[in-house]
Amino acid sequence: MLRIAASHEDDTGLASATGLIMPDGSKGLRKDFSDTGREDLVDYLAGEFPDVFGRSPEVSPIRGGRRAAEERLASASPQSYAKTRNRLGGAVTMLSPYIRHGVVGAREVRDYVLEKSGRTGEKLVQEIGWHDYFQRVYRRIGTGVWEDREEWKTGLGPEEYAEAMPEDLLEERTGLACMDGFARDLHEIGYLHNHARLWTAAYVVHHRRVKWQAGAAWFLRHLLDGDPASNNLSWQWVASTFSSKPYFFDRGNLERNTDGVYCRTCPLARSGCPFDAPIEDLQEKLFPQPAPDPSRKKDGVRGGREERRRRRRRR
Ligand SMILES: Cc1cc2nc3c(=O)[nH]c(=O)nc-3n(C[C@H](O)[C@H](O)[C@H](O)COP(=O)(O)OP(=O)(O)OC[C@H]3O[C@@H](n4cnc5c(N)ncnc54)[C@H](O)[C@@H]3O)c2cc1C
Repeated sequence: MLRIAASHEDDTGLASATGLIMPDGSKGLRKDFSDTGREDLVDYLAGEFPDVFGRSPEVSPIRGGRRAAEERLASASPQSYAKTRNRLGGAVTMLSPYIRHGVVGAREVRDYVLEKSGRTGEKLVQEIGWHDYFQRVYRRIGTGVWEDREEWKTGLGPEEYAEAMPEDLLEERTGLACMDGFARDLHEIGYLHNHARLWTAAYVVHHRRVKWQAGAAWFLRHLLDGDPASNNLSWQWVASTFSSKPYFFDRGNLERNTDGVYCRTCPLARSGCPFDAPIEDLQEKLFPQPAPDPSRKKDGVRGGREERRRRRRRR
């Protein structure tokens, strides 16, 4: 995908768009496309960067520039956000590419939301807080975001995870409509809803047993908001090296939050869906020897086989 995302200098997205900035800041790329429009901009960039365009000719529909960012911000609805943000069709802001590249600041978004919506804006402000938190951790540990921050809590050692991404997922042909769809959106649009990111990361790390670093690098190559802080630490959160337990999900969760759009057309929906099982069974399958964690007794993921058996007997 040719990325024409975000710029804080003008509305073309040229000045600082990811992947287009010149190492010495020079090169004198043409910046004024206001009269000739986006197609002209795309043609121009294809000519200037034939290798990038040759590898991946899709152009993301997400537009760059301050004007686009302001329009997004003005259309944000903090109240609906709080109610629907977990759903793929929910009222998420899609501000991340602009925040990532400094077209709007996280502080500016926060102030705008609080002024517009007061306390009903709290949920959105909290989420922006995650961005801020990850940035602060990144400032402290730098390239340490590429290292496991803690031990794995999956019962498996790092050596049991593959180094490379599965080819079928990279080529969008796992046969799972959801995962192939997410990979396609990542490649062609450069944006995924938070839930799609979580599901994809859990699939890569826990179902395919691939190191989170491989998945994080794949995301960073394609996301318009690709940011080693939010991205890597979120992958680690899913993996369990930056959290107290691994994140995984079942089909019901995915189906509910996508209105079933993937499952309806999925060739594996009737048989062969790896997410179609009770959460306890999935846990047992994915984490055959869970690491003991006496601190978590309540909510599902921790406690080992014995604890799970006890819970089943109690039901
Ligand atoms: C595996 C994985 C990888 C991710 N990689 C990135 C990344 O490279 N860059 C990135 O900006 N975010 C990343 N996120 C966090 C989150 O998914 C995106 O910020 C969010 O989906 C962007 O869409 P939005 O702007 O519509 O978000 P909204 O839900 O509308 O949120 C508004 C803003 O709050 C911030 N925000 C919201 N949720 C989170 C979160 N969970 N963590 C950090 N900030 C958040 C973002 O700046 C976002 O633009 C990742 C999450 C996961 C699970």
